[in-house]
Amino acid sequence: MADPSPHQMVSCPYNKAHQIEHYRMHIHLQKCRKQYPNCKKVSCPFDSTHMVNEMELDHHVRTCPKRELLDQQMYIIDNDHRPVVELQQPPPIRCEENWDDDACSSSYVPDPAKMPSHIIKKVKGATPSERRKARMEAIANFKPRE
Ligand SMILES: [Zn+2]
Ligand SMILES: [Zn+2]
Repeated sequence: MADPSPHQMVSCPYNKAHQIEHYRMHIHLQKCRKQYPNCKKVSCPFDSTHMVNEMELDHHVRTCPKRELLDQQMYIIDNDHRPVVELQQPPPIRCEENWDDDACSSSYVPDPAKMPSHIIKKVKGATPSERRKARMEAIANFKPRE
């Protein structure tokens, strides 16, 4: 059931003879409910702390602020189901900040085309012994600072 537009005339839950514009209904209800002090109270399905007259429940669930909150949360939850693209930071080049450190600057080649010295390169298409040699060289060149 679609919500009435603000200026749509809706009938008062207490008295169908009361035709009130929807956006003013809550004002009318404040006055009108006083004539029905013994009306059964029920709790709002969206927030159990909302005690409303059973007669008003229909109106209340349509205008309950908690319902809007719930709708917004549903929307946010929906968004969370979208795939999240994680940005991966490149590995930090630890030597960059330590040009005065001999152990570092001697092994660091400032050539952007080359990988930082602390990354052990994989040699593709090499024989196992060549790969091992390349790996050992990379390890030999790799000088951890700590
Ligand atoms: Zn009324
Ligand atoms: Zn409510």
